[in-house]
Amino acid sequence: METRNSAERKPHAVLIPYPVQGHINPLFKLAKLLHLRGFHITFVHTEYNHKRLIKSRGPNALDGLSDFHFETIPDGLPTTIDDVNVTQDIVSLCKTVRENLLTPFCDLLARLNNSATPVTCLVSDCGMTFTLQAAQELSLPIVMFPPASACCLLSGVRYRTRFDEGLIPLKDESYLTNEYLDTKVDTPGMKNSRLKDSPDFIRSTDPNYSMVEFFMEQVDNMHRASAIIINTFVELENDALNALSSIFPSLYPIGPFPSFLSQCPQNHLASLGSNLWKEDTGCLEWLESKKPKSVVYVSFGSVTVMSPEQLLEFAWGLANSKRPFLWIIRPDLVAGGSVVLSSEFVNETSDRGLIASWCPQEEVLNHSSIGLFLTHCGWNSVTESICAGVPMLCWPFFADQPTNCKLICNELGIGVEIDKNVKRKEVEKLVNELMVGDKGKKMRQEIMELKKKAEENTRLGGGSYMNLEKLIGEVLLKQN
Ligand code: UDP
Repeated sequence: METRNSAERKPHAVLIPYPVQGHINPLFKLAKLLHLRGFHITFVHTEYNHKRLIKSRGPNALDGLSDFHFETIPDGLPTTIDDVNVTQDIVSLCKTVRENLLTPFCDLLARLNNSATPVTCLVSDCGMTFTLQAAQELSLPIVMFPPASACCLLSGVRYRTRFDEGLIPLKDESYLTNEYLDTKVDTPGMKNSRLKDSPDFIRSTDPNYSMVEFFMEQVDNMHRASAIIINTFVELENDALNALSSIFPSLYPIGPFPSFLSQCPQNHLASLGSNLWKEDTGCLEWLESKKPKSVVYVSFGSVTVMSPEQLLEFAWGLANSKRPFLWIIRPDLVAGGSVVLSSEFVNETSDRGLIASWCPQEEVLNHSSIGLFLTHCGWNSVTESICAGVPMLCWPFFADQPTNCKLICNELGIGVEIDKNVKRKEVEKLVNELMVGDKGKKMRQEIMELKKKAEENTRLGGGSYMNLEKLIGEVLLKQN
């Protein structure tokens, strides 16, 4: 990919993610992509996440480069003495983002505009809707980014209809049955859609439940943006993208980001990372000792919380499958306290199991010894798995994960779902089926085809490549 190198001043893009891991990572990749296209980059973290990055990556974590630098703004939440190693409460974050971030963000933009490189465009997570007002006040083009699938965005659009029809929020707990959640809902662009395939905020029975409103508000506000970008590609979500194109005429599918970046020489950016937890790189050495495609990689992302009983079912399912596994257990993965796995489990699996609290996931997924990904179906994990050609065993937890799971299992045939009420027997059986059975073989072929399509899309002249070119020329560099 060529850098737009010129004597004239570089365009200056300010990027601001919603301040949680699964939103920071893809926007950070996009920042790198724009930097490689000749943009001066400012990436905005909250002060809280800045502290976490320093803790996980060292004191120079945010030194940046002369034309890729970091800024911080306060998140407006109260701090406690040692609060820099825990995930923040999502509902409080949604509230503070709405109420407290506009002013510090505008102050930051004013300061940047007084520097040698005034701001030329904004790229904002769609959860940070206040940025639309900032863009309007400064007459800047703004691109909104939902770090989710096209299917999720489409479901979001339909939320308003279901809300107006009185289908959501649910009237009371009695509606939380499989029978009701199996209700077919007409969603052009998503075949055979059931209520339960919508992002799971629908499960709420609280008429004032802020996540439903927060989600609908994001989607409504996207119409105010100069453009919307999405981390997907046509062969992955053709129907949903077609349906979305009439709703959002300025929609640019420019994914998958991992495939885009893996094709760019970017050594000078290697020191810049976005993981809020400290990565255990020892697991890469451990993978070296394993046979090709023999290891199950298990991770439930940065937010999922499970019960101690569910943890045990997964643990014994993995142990009984007799397959090697690398399992990411964050310190806050289990509800109500620290994770305790019995010495019996540890003894049983010591020769073939490794547990780490966080890892460089993309490197792990791309390691030749990984054969299967047991995942919660966060969209980053899904796209990273596709780019690595690794089939998925899916246990969706919340938000957009059920929607992604339906796409993976029912439409694309690159994964299988585990029942919400997880049982060790089922884990054992499915792990073995996908690792060595015919089903697994078929899925591996399917996902390798998709991996190829992902690479074609992000290569010079490919669909996503051209969309990024168009986005830069038609939106980001357009003078108002
Ligand atoms: N991740 C990582 N190391 C881990 C676990 C996760 O680097 O041990 C990264 C993963 O590569 C992905 C992100 O964290 O980019 C998780 O995002 P996702 O959308 O999959 O799930 P979320 O955390 O938002 O639920």
